[in-house]
Amino acid sequence: MSSVVPRTSVLVKGPASVPPTIALTFDDGPHPEYTPRLLDSLADKGFKATFFLIGEKAAQYPYLVKRICAEGHQLGNHTWSHTEPATTSTASFLAEVQRTRAYLNDLTGRDIRIVRPPKGELTIGKVKGLWQRKESCILWNRDPKDYRMASKGELAHWYRTFQPVAGDVVLLHDNHPFAGECVEELAAALRPYGVRTVCLEEWLPNPSKNGRSGDSSQWQRPIVRESVSPANV
Ligand SMILES: [Zn+2]
Repeated sequence: MSSVVPRTSVLVKGPASVPPTIALTFDDGPHPEYTPRLLDSLADKGFKATFFLIGEKAAQYPYLVKRICAEGHQLGNHTWSHTEPATTSTASFLAEVQRTRAYLNDLTGRDIRIVRPPKGELTIGKVKGLWQRKESCILWNRDPKDYRMASKGELAHWYRTFQPVAGDVVLLHDNHPFAGECVEELAAALRPYGVRTVCLEEWLPNPSKNGRSGDSSQWQRPIVRESVSPANV
């Protein structure tokens, strides 16, 4: 597998930088109610984050996409309709990614080259297709599964036991309320560690330069699953 898939195509965890940085990522938005609240809370704490948007939701709420950009956050591509990986062909997946990229480019002027596949599920063909289009796959290494939680208290509890490590990519969702409601608790969890939150672009090579730079250990082989996962990422 590694002979045909570039090791530089899938990011699971960022660099072990000093001082430590972590990446907060929010999937499945924008949401008309929860995303604005989340943005208010992130601004209050001075946190920066990356939003992996569903294209058709971005088209429904373009003002929220513009607000995300205006407040210094990064955009990512989460396909046009949150395709089910087990039943989506490589061609369909890549077409959805391209449609979302084109829409976000027209809307914001930004060329979005980071992709989070729904449920984090990839095949060799999908990874190769993204790489040929000079796009990077972004997965994660910390997942509280906020989409399964029934109350804000559950996420607050997860944060109380969260011990952040430099390079963590935390998966959260802004189509559910709890991530936005628990930013105070997240801030309290990070404070003792002196961790700074960054947009993913801070870890990625400058696309205007040739090749990829940085710590190659942050890039890993893709996770390839053929079966349907219960995850709802
Ligand atoms: Zn998702």
